[in-house]
Amino acid sequence: MTDKLKIIDECCVDSDPANDPAIGQKGKLFIKTYGCQMNEYDSTKLAALLEHTHELTTDPQHADLILVNTCSVRDKPEQKLYSLLGRLRELKERKPQLMIGVGGCVAQQEGEQILKRNAGVDFVFGTHNLSLVPSLVSLRTRGAPPQVAVDYRDDWEDLPPGFGTPNRVSVFVSISRGCNKNCTYCIVPTTRGSEVSRGLEEILREIRLAVHRGAKEVTLLGQTVNSWGLDFTPRRRFSELIYAVAEVQGLERIRFTSPHPQEVRKDFIDCLASTAKLCRHLHMPLQSGSDRILQAMNRNYRMRRYYEIIDAVRQRVPEVAITTDLIVGFPGETPEDFNATLDAIERVQFDNSFSFMFSPRPGTAAAAMKDDVPSEEKLRRLQVLQDLQFEITTTKLGGWIGRSVEVLLEGPSADEAGLLAGRTTQNWMVNLMEAAPSGVKAGDLVSVQIKDRSRFTLRGSLQGTAKGEAVDFSAATA
Ligand code: SF4
Repeated sequence: MTDKLKIIDECCVDSDPANDPAIGQKGKLFIKTYGCQMNEYDSTKLAALLEHTHELTTDPQHADLILVNTCSVRDKPEQKLYSLLGRLRELKERKPQLMIGVGGCVAQQEGEQILKRNAGVDFVFGTHNLSLVPSLVSLRTRGAPPQVAVDYRDDWEDLPPGFGTPNRVSVFVSISRGCNKNCTYCIVPTTRGSEVSRGLEEILREIRLAVHRGAKEVTLLGQTVNSWGLDFTPRRRFSELIYAVAEVQGLERIRFTSPHPQEVRKDFIDCLASTAKLCRHLHMPLQSGSDRILQAMNRNYRMRRYYEIIDAVRQRVPEVAITTDLIVGFPGETPEDFNATLDAIERVQFDNSFSFMFSPRPGTAAAAMKDDVPSEEKLRRLQVLQDLQFEITTTKLGGWIGRSVEVLLEGPSADEAGLLAGRTTQNWMVNLMEAAPSGVKAGDLVSVQIKDRSRFTLRGSLQGTAKGEAVDFSAATA
């Protein structure tokens, strides 16, 4: 008997939705998601697990069940969780039947402490316990005391498909869980466990289902996505998976995030260069441009290797966009180390980067190091870095003006109501400047003439379909 079955049996709970008296009057479910794409993906799995009993609402005031999917990678999401739980307790005082569950990385780490610190919480579930959530809801509905479930490990097949994005054109599909790298600043190996790859057939099944429901683009997710298959016997290669995904009929584009430089080998670069459906975008975390700091971070590559990879990719994949993640103010980071990071940004000319100030996370090796860069200095370094990046990004965006690009339309533009937006293969967001003809819709691959840019996005006019077919502009709607 699995641990999961034991939990359910011991509590004498019938978790079959067909036998739940509440069915027929679905409750309202609000999910608040913090952190990374993996959490967004897990949240859609939660919505799918509960779809027999609850429908989603975007307003927590209307919810009967609120799930908070937490993140502990950085300081702020954790602080935000505790302030959110304070506000939710007030909501619960006004609406006592409201049920609150807390999951994700903070839940995995803190477990019962969350119940002790927050009287309004009904249950806590860990990163490998999503499939238990319907049972936890049932238990509380039937009067059981507040619950904590952080030990059980879901099998992949315990979870229904959930695609992680609000639009169905571009979806996430998880290909592995956990991480074996143990970067000294990162809590993920503790909260998500060792790396486990998902079976190829199961990944393909989820992608085919997403395509059947209208998806045109998939982003494969993994903490170190390109180490997929290394835990199988015999080992399998990430490139093998990409070639198989590229065979899925109806799928137009493939993305993945995030690859680790240590696992980049020749077959990976060959695959980037030879797979037409793979987008021309590589997001490869660097973290620091200093070998000394990379070593202290336990990042198992040095700058020379990182540059070799970038040069090889640029040579083999025309017009590839390269983006990265960077940390400033890691323990022991001197002005020279920081300058090495600026040099790396100049040398690589990243199209964009996500940059953060180091903050120690309890339970990591870096938390035991002396956090010796003062906060004001961290902030100053971050500003200098972001100013440099902004300059490069602005130049890169400007380089697209006047060119025709292929855009996969994803849905409404954030720029202006009634207009559509989508992304280029390099992952630049493009907002259409005029209303599209009525036949043009989200999910279409179109050709767009770029006319302008804003801070981080492009703007342009529809020219036709990506295959060169004309579009009937006489049918344009405002
Ligand atoms: S590679 Fe490093 S930073 Fe990324 S999840 Fe693993 S331990 Fe964390």
